[in-house]
Amino acid sequence: MTQITENQILAALRTVPDPDRKADIVTLKMVSGLAVKGTNVTFTIEVDPARGAQLEPLRHAAEKAVLGLPGVTSATAILTAHRTGVAATTAQASAGAAAPRASARIELPGIRAIVAIASGKGGVGKSTTATNLALAMTANGLRVGLLDADIYGPSQPRMMGISGKPTSYDGKTLQPMERFGVKVMSIGFMVAEDTPMIWRGPMVMSALQQMLRDVAWGELDILVVDMPPGTGDAQLTMSQQVPLAGAVIVSTPQDIALLDARKGLNMFRRVDVPVLGIIENMSYFLCPHCGERSDIFSHGGARHEAEALGTTFLGEIPLDIAIRETSDSGQPITVSQPDSAHAQAYRAIAARIWDQVAAGPQQGPAISIE
Ligand code: ADP
Repeated sequence: MTQITENQILAALRTVPDPDRKADIVTLKMVSGLAVKGTNVTFTIEVDPARGAQLEPLRHAAEKAVLGLPGVTSATAILTAHRTGVAATTAQASAGAAAPRASARIELPGIRAIVAIASGKGGVGKSTTATNLALAMTANGLRVGLLDADIYGPSQPRMMGISGKPTSYDGKTLQPMERFGVKVMSIGFMVAEDTPMIWRGPMVMSALQQMLRDVAWGELDILVVDMPPGTGDAQLTMSQQVPLAGAVIVSTPQDIALLDARKGLNMFRRVDVPVLGIIENMSYFLCPHCGERSDIFSHGGARHEAEALGTTFLGEIPLDIAIRETSDSGQPITVSQPDSAHAQAYRAIAARIWDQVAAGPQQGPAISIE
C-alpha cells in the first residue's frame, strides 16, 4: 500500500471548520507537527488557550476526518496552546526536512544563552554531565537553569535529588523547582519515573515547548538543556525551535570509535547550531581501592576526533564509582565533594563552555557547515 501523503491529510483536515472562526483549521494555520509513521498519523491543533477546554469536539472531528482516509489506521490529534510562528517550524521538522534554523522560534528573552548537552546515543553519561556542568556553572558564579528535555527518560529529578511537584501562582506559569542554586524543570516532576510513557512526536514537542515557555525561569545567564539521547526528530525539532547558543557533545571513548558522536555533531551542524565541543566521559577508569588509572576504552579518542572535526576538545571525566554513586543518589559530586579532582574538572569544562558562549558565535571555533 502506498504511504499516505501529507497533502491527503491536509485535504481531509480542510473539511474541519473552526466553529468560532468561519474557516477550516488548515486555512487558519492551526495544524502543525504533522507526522506520518506507516499508517499512523499524529498532529497538533494549536488553539487559543482560553478556548482549549471547549474545543474537544473539534479535536475529535479532526481525528475522525483523518481516520476516514484509506490507509490510515490511527489518527491522534493533540490540542496545544497557540503561539504565533511555531506552527510552520514544527510541521516542517516533523516532516523530516533538514531545514536551516527557522526564524520563528521560541523566544526566551530572560535567558542569555541556552546550551544543549547532547549525545549520539544513550548511556554515555549525558545527564550526569549536564547535572554536574549546571552545578559547576553555578559554582563559577552564573545564574543557571537546567531543563531536562529527555521526555522519554527524565533523569534530573533523581540526579538533582528533587521530589515534589512544581507550583503555579497564576494557573498559567509553572515555578521551576530549585536545588543547589539551580532552577530545574523536568517532565519527571509531573509524571512518576517508572510510568511508561508513549509520547508521539508532536506530544514531545508540545511538552518541551511548555517546559520552556510556560516556566517562570526568570533571569538566567545560562539554561543547560539535558537533551534526549540520539539524533531523531525530537532532537532535530528541539534544535530548530530553541534558540541554542550551542551544543556540547558528550561521548565515551568507544562511542567515538562507533561514530555516534559524529552523528550528534552533524545533526547540530545541519541546523546551524554551533558545536561548542566534545567532552570525553568515562575516559579512563580510576580504581577506588588503589587509585590506579586504567585506560579501558583506549582513552583520548575524543581529543583526536574533536581535532578531526574542527571542534574544541572540552575535557575528560574518568569512569569513577564516586561519580555514579553521587549522581544516582541526588548528591552530584560537584556539590557534594566540591574540592575533589572531578568537581574541579567539571568546573574547568564549564568555564570553557561559558567562555565560548560569552564570546558569541563569531569568535567560536571554526566550523565548516556541510
Ligand atoms: P545518559 O544520560 O547518557 O543516558 P546517564 O548520565 O544517565 O547517561 O549515565 C548512565 C549511568 O552512568 C548512570 O548510572 C551514571 O551515574 C553513570 N555515569 C555517568 N558518568 C559516569 C562517570 N564518569 N563515572 C561513573 N559513572 C558514570
